[in-house]
Amino acid sequence: MPEGMHFDLSEDQELIRSSVAQLCRKFDDQYWMEKDQAHEFPTEFYRAIADGGWLGITIPEEYGGHGLGITEATLLAAEVSRSGGGMNAASSIHMSIFGMQPVVLHGSEELKRRTLPRIAAGDLHVCFGVTEPGAGLDTPRITTSARRDGDHYVVNGRKVWISKALESEKILLLTRTTPYDDVDRKTDGMTLFLTDLDRAHIDIRPIAKMGRNAVSSNEVFIDDLRIPVEDRVGEEGKGFRYLLDGLNPERMLIAAEALGLGRVALDRAVRYAKERVVFDRPIGRNQGIQFPLADSLAQLDAAELMLRKATWLYDNGKPSGREANTAKYLCADAGFTAADRALQTHGGMGYAEEYHVARYFRESRVMRIAPVSQEMILNYLGTHALGLPRSY
Ligand SMILES: Cc1cc2nc3c(=O)[nH]c(=O)nc-3n(C[C@H](O)[C@H](O)[C@H](O)COP(=O)(O)OP(=O)(O)OC[C@H]3O[C@@H](n4cnc5c(N)ncnc54)[C@H](O)[C@@H]3O)c2cc1C
Repeated sequence: MPEGMHFDLSEDQELIRSSVAQLCRKFDDQYWMEKDQAHEFPTEFYRAIADGGWLGITIPEEYGGHGLGITEATLLAAEVSRSGGGMNAASSIHMSIFGMQPVVLHGSEELKRRTLPRIAAGDLHVCFGVTEPGAGLDTPRITTSARRDGDHYVVNGRKVWISKALESEKILLLTRTTPYDDVDRKTDGMTLFLTDLDRAHIDIRPIAKMGRNAVSSNEVFIDDLRIPVEDRVGEEGKGFRYLLDGLNPERMLIAAEALGLGRVALDRAVRYAKERVVFDRPIGRNQGIQFPLADSLAQLDAAELMLRKATWLYDNGKPSGREANTAKYLCADAGFTAADRALQTHGGMGYAEEYHVARYFRESRVMRIAPVSQEMILNYLGTHALGLPRSY
């Protein structure tokens, strides 16, 4: 019988899940609330994850990682998020866990040796610089330019929403080496660099935002930044294609983070629904409270199954675009819905920070927008899976 997909975790996968859960227990909701309120990077958590060897989970072994698949990375991400760390925890490690895929696949040996072992060890923080104010989801419209000048590129432009830029030493930066109007295909002419965030030429300004405040998101102003050619990832002009290689696993990782957040929100809601007595009965006896929570359980379980299918397909070298997009879509919605219902279940206390569901609610909301919006997922499914005409 051919080896197919099954639902059991292997012993090693189960060990990953339980070890990460145990490590995360040292960082409780109180820790995350305080980091969020202080707008302070969770250094202790990040260090513990790095020391546990988890940052390099998907980085190849020859560069100091474990060389495991996206299945294992999503188990890790879901557990981190589910611990109550939510997006504050997940975003602090997200880039190290899978963001380096374009470098792993297309970077020079020298670039990989110079950066990947340091990322796996937790000694090198990296951020991801794609979004620009004038381009939005239409990435080929970026205008940050890189002009070749001898053995350097000179870069000028502006990025927005760059998470962790404030705390990072390097940025994986998407630029245009050929202007939009001069390329045959709009996705050509973009070049990727993994380079220093040289503060002499880069101004970083945090954006005041709705949640996930332990990890900054920033405006990044780049002014005559000189990037050595050795920091270029792969060939000039092919940067967008390299990013596409990491797109599906990135969606799966985000899906896992949304799922974990939905699970912890539901756990808290159930606990409160059992404990809180109003009109002489626990509020969870009312079907107006119980049914939405049961419905969220069904939604989260179904979304997780789709995520499992997507990660299995990817790790087995099969096309996974439809499933990766569907998993992100379903997990983001199920996670947010569970967080919203957890807040409702807590009544007025849901609005107080001390019950933590308000924080989950704010964090789960962003998963429907970034790194790709629910609308763009539906655009993908509409055109690629259903064959309908493209609307944009
Ligand atoms: C907390 C946070 C962290 C982030 N971190 C990073 C980061 O580290 N690095 C980085 O590069 N970026 C980051 N981003 C940016 C994020 O990836 C973008 O915000 C996201 O891709 C949406 O792009 P936009 O904000 O420009 O929306 P826009 O492109 O302006 O779109 C606005 C709205 O219009 C909808 N829309 C647009 N076109 C269509 C269409 N054709 N059909 C249907 N609907 C459409 C969109 O779905 C969206 O709802 C972050 C964003 C947030 C909020």
